[in-house]
Amino acid sequence: MLLSGKLAVVTGSNRGIGRAITEVFLDHGARVVGVDLGEDFPVREGFTGLQADVSSTADCQRVFDVLSQQFGTADILVNCAGITRDAMTRRMTEEQWDQVIAVDLKGVWNLTRLIGPSMEKNGSGSIISISSAVALFGNIGQVNYAAAKAGLIGMTKTWAKEFAQGGGNVRVNAIAPGFTMTDMMRAIPENLLDRFRGQTMLGRLAEPKEIANAALFLASDLSSYVTGEVLNVNGGLRM
Ligand code: NAD
Repeated sequence: MLLSGKLAVVTGSNRGIGRAITEVFLDHGARVVGVDLGEDFPVREGFTGLQADVSSTADCQRVFDVLSQQFGTADILVNCAGITRDAMTRRMTEEQWDQVIAVDLKGVWNLTRLIGPSMEKNGSGSIISISSAVALFGNIGQVNYAAAKAGLIGMTKTWAKEFAQGGGNVRVNAIAPGFTMTDMMRAIPENLLDRFRGQTMLGRLAEPKEIANAALFLASDLSSYVTGEVLNVNGGLRM
């Protein structure tokens, strides 16, 4: 029970990696407030779902107000909600660019700028943002996603410095997963998935729980001296 008594906020809690993180945190004794666009929230003791769009500043303010009034200061924030809108640069529309930046980059800022300072005031917290191997390697057809996920890394390192200013113990880290078997990947043809498998030393895609276990490490006191880092969880990727 690595997270007994902790209050965690997880965005994108309903599917894929966010769902796995929510389940693992609940398994380890945390209370979890999930934030997701959809209504299909996990049904488990200790879990509360708030329907919200992380790209909306008004929605994030509402989430923060509910959190402050009903739960108190979060101990853990996981920014996991994300989307892809892939296209080669020459064909990418402004809308595809804007949508990914709005959710994957600004969405992280929207909630962290509210919860981060409250953790700083409280003197402790762990903030984890789900970046991507694509931020570090680049990927054909994903310039919008690569930009957003690389931006998260700069934000992570900046917040690790900023939120430590109060003299407390607020740690801020990112996870850069490799290809992970979730709905986000189901649209990809099997032959391309095989190529992705072949690009890893372990010869397979990740299961969401393997990313969730890395989040558990960063959320818990096991990582008490780790901040400003990007944890690669990618099976030894060579993109
Ligand atoms: P997914 O599509 O399975 O789940 C994403 C979840 O986020 C869904 O529940 C969805 O409703 C929610 N969501 C989407 N937009 C939202 C918004 N505007 N506001 C609130 N909730 C929103 O995706 P996944 O594969 O589990 O990815 C989770 C995160 O991990 C994303 O940030 C993604 O970029 C990142 N990631 C995924 C992979 C992969 O291979 N699957 C690899 C690296 C990083």
